[in-house]
Amino acid sequence: MQTLRLNHNENDIQTAGKILADGGLVAVPTETVYGLAANALDGEAVAKIFAAKGRPMDNPLIVHIADFGDMERFSLVREIPEAAYRLAATFWPGPLTMIMKKGSAIPDAVSARLDTVAVRFPSHPLAQAVIRAAGVPLAAPSANLSGSPSPTTARHVLHDMDGKIDAVLDGGECQVGLESTVITLVTDIPRVLRPGGVTVEMLTEALGEVEVDDAVVHRLADGVKAASPGMKYKHYAPKANVILLQCSDADFLDYVNCHAGRGVAVLCCDEDVPLLHNVKAISLGCRGDYGTQAHRLFDSLRRIDGYGDVLTVFSRLPSTDGVGLAVYNRLIRAAGFEVIDLGKN
Ligand code: AMP
Ligand code: MG
Repeated sequence: MQTLRLNHNENDIQTAGKILADGGLVAVPTETVYGLAANALDGEAVAKIFAAKGRPMDNPLIVHIADFGDMERFSLVREIPEAAYRLAATFWPGPLTMIMKKGSAIPDAVSARLDTVAVRFPSHPLAQAVIRAAGVPLAAPSANLSGSPSPTTARHVLHDMDGKIDAVLDGGECQVGLESTVITLVTDIPRVLRPGGVTVEMLTEALGEVEVDDAVVHRLADGVKAASPGMKYKHYAPKANVILLQCSDADFLDYVNCHAGRGVAVLCCDEDVPLLHNVKAISLGCRGDYGTQAHRLFDSLRRIDGYGDVLTVFSRLPSTDGVGLAVYNRLIRAAGFEVIDLGKN
């Protein structure tokens, strides 16, 4: 299959909409990452997403809408809980996904046979325009091969998906750079299943009380069922071995310089770069600027693979404050939950 390259113009948006309405796959930019979209109401179209990504069939997809009213109009959810109105008023359109009881129109492939469905109203104007052009809600996971870092540019999408999907719509770099925050509203107290650009602190302010699922920062124990199936897979990983270090800033620099060499890279802050020697230093941004760190994380993980000769990547264990929690959640999965605590060694 030849993958069409589409651009940001009315003609190409209509082409994307037509491909989707006809049951095809189009990668579309959103404010979080590029999504691999299909008609969410068409089980056969949705099955193609799983095939193209190599995604396990038990990992459900997020349904993207272009208007709050789409949830009722297309029978996506059984009922809209009070908390959804409150969250939508503050965070939609935007990088927040809400899980609710699923409606009659959701094919099994979308919900992976759960009785719930995840819904998001993205803020990216191109994402909204394509949903409107398709005339249906779009199921869209990140447009990467399953297991590799999510794509934040059209180039990343083509690296993984060229020849496997009908088209990619190039809308430049994604602003947030990490996938949406996922919150379930079917538990007694709303619970964050995946942290993202909308932080736990912001959700708590809007709702009063919010829980954070254990799987956000810990490896699931054997036999425990994941509330969010996606959280149980090793994810976001470059080919090199990622090692997280828990330590002071001075110890971090000492440790990395001690272990430096040709096959070593380090994910670090701007402030570290002049103090590191004989390693490939990739800065995620200024210390404490978690927004920029989130924005650059996946591109940095892909750049490490691009070097071709990197075997080991060191990084600090991130802070869990604000958007830091989302960076922590992705990096600890990239590292397969391995953390070296230098204070203990
Ligand atoms: P992705 O589309 O790659 O950003 O992944 C979507 C994430 O949302 C995965 O971690 C899924 O497991 C999660 N998700 C989607 N639908 C549901 C649902 N109904 N219940 C729990 N988690 C869900
Ligand atoms: Mg994904």
